[in-house]
Amino acid sequence: MSSEYDVIVIGGGPAGYPAAIRAGQNKLKVACIDEWVNKDGSYAFGGTCLNAGCIPSKALLESSELVHRAQHEFAVHGIKVGDVSVDVATMQKRRAGIVKASTQGINALFKAAGVTGLQGHGKLLKGNKVEFTGKDGKKEELTAKHVILASGSSPTELKSMPFDGKQIVDSWGALEFDAVPKRLCVVGAGVIGLELGSVWRRLGSEVVVLEALDTFLPAADGAVSKEALKHFKKLGLDIRLGAKVSGADKSASGVKLKYTDAKGEQTLEVDKVVVAIGRRPFTNGLLGEGTGVQIDERGFIKVDHDCKTGVANVWAVGDVVRGPMLAHKGKEEGVMVADLIAGKIAEVNYKTIPSVIYTAPEIAWVGQTEEEVKKSGRAYKVGSFPFLASGRARAMEATAGFAKIVAATDDDEILGVHIIGPMAGELIAEAVLAMEYSASTEDLQRTIHAHPTLSEAVHEAALAADKIAIDFPNR
Ligand code: FAD
Ligand code: NAD
Repeated sequence: MSSEYDVIVIGGGPAGYPAAIRAGQNKLKVACIDEWVNKDGSYAFGGTCLNAGCIPSKALLESSELVHRAQHEFAVHGIKVGDVSVDVATMQKRRAGIVKASTQGINALFKAAGVTGLQGHGKLLKGNKVEFTGKDGKKEELTAKHVILASGSSPTELKSMPFDGKQIVDSWGALEFDAVPKRLCVVGAGVIGLELGSVWRRLGSEVVVLEALDTFLPAADGAVSKEALKHFKKLGLDIRLGAKVSGADKSASGVKLKYTDAKGEQTLEVDKVVVAIGRRPFTNGLLGEGTGVQIDERGFIKVDHDCKTGVANVWAVGDVVRGPMLAHKGKEEGVMVADLIAGKIAEVNYKTIPSVIYTAPEIAWVGQTEEEVKKSGRAYKVGSFPFLASGRARAMEATAGFAKIVAATDDDEILGVHIIGPMAGELIAEAVLAMEYSASTEDLQRTIHAHPTLSEAVHEAALAADKIAIDFPNR
């Protein structure tokens, strides 16, 4: 193995592996070190996202959504399926197969881009050297002109209720349940809580979600949060706000949780608990003595706008640095850094990072919420279009939700787009592109949208912002 590289990336998740691939495409000599080990002991590139996050959760969301539709929606189409039963083992085998295909794909991508994939632990040493410890425990010192730190994040544990991998699990554990728990508690009504709570609810669990805050989904636009709560309740998610967990008693028959809410002390008995209260930057064993890389008070590696750490030629990207913990944010940072290293012009536009929650209805947004715009004091207008008025949504039996645009009154700039409804995560791409190119609502209004498509909802919302919607009464 060669020990001298132009670039060494530590971490092979969605921030690290794209950085390595782009560095390879830029004709740099690059190695990507990753220590991810799956529960069967196999090493795999792809980090949290491919192994235990985005991909497996979407696989189970899809399967469980099909179960729900077969049970509750097929009949209206005139399709009779009788009793629908779930074979969890087959469902999980499919999930595992999708993960394997995705992670193995990275080996092929590395080969095509000339990236050396090294499986084991990487530690940054003083003077931009990297200590690599292989699977066999053998250590080797590597040198690199540039080092990119992409060590990601790990789930936050509740001190009063540590993970045990069986009854109290993190999101990875909840993705790999081998049977449907009868009674499930999810602590945290964030993205993971809602996605995984939906999966197990649709498969038959009684799901209680305990959320410490009094407000539901505060990061989303207020109208979207309100609409979403309505649909989660309809699904049967028992979401309890203002609930602060203080501890749990475990026994062979389950877990007895103690929490307090506005009414006082409460208890809840369940079979399993998923703790999904956020994630923390992961830097264990990453930095040797005296590297000079600084960590902030919340554990993130300090970086500037361009992901420079302040130590010459040491960069950091993805969940381990400030900003939303999203795979696509990490990917763009990784690619940007690999291009900057190669002397190209590159930047990440942090104002146009989309957020998607893959529930049903799906939730997606980009830019500012109406509440944020109001607070900023800028005069604004709002256009909204319900999927109930969309021909395509009606044909799909998916009429829940709406598309909403918030735009500036003075220059018509699109400030935020918020969608709750079918395929919201796909529809938001148009809004991201529009905002990336500083399009106005008039630009969206004058863009032809095929009929009948769900994208017409975004078009009509843009028209509604100026009270000229065609397919819905203007108010
Ligand atoms: P990670 O993916 O955590 O990868 C870091 C890698 O570095 C890991 O493989 C780790 O083992 C390795 N590593 C760490 N330290 C070292 C070291 N010293 N030496 C060698 N290797 C090291 N985001 C989305 O955008 N969309 C989604 O739908 C989505 N769904 C999610 C669902 C779940 C259940 C979870 C938990 C997360 C989800 N996320 C989603 C978030 C997404 O997974 C993360 O934002 C993303 O994985 C971060 O990428 P990263 O490369 O920074 O870190
Ligand atoms: P989150 O920050 O989205 O939600 C955590 C929730 O837990 C919050 O509502 C918070 O108020 C609540 N909480 C915190 N402490 C609590 C406590 N002690 N008791 C009860 N509730 C408490 O975090 P997450 O859902 O764990 O997800 C972690 C990260 O992974 C997020 O940054 C998210 O962006 C990312 N992720 C993204 C997707 C996606 O893009 N679709 C999916 C899953 C995860």
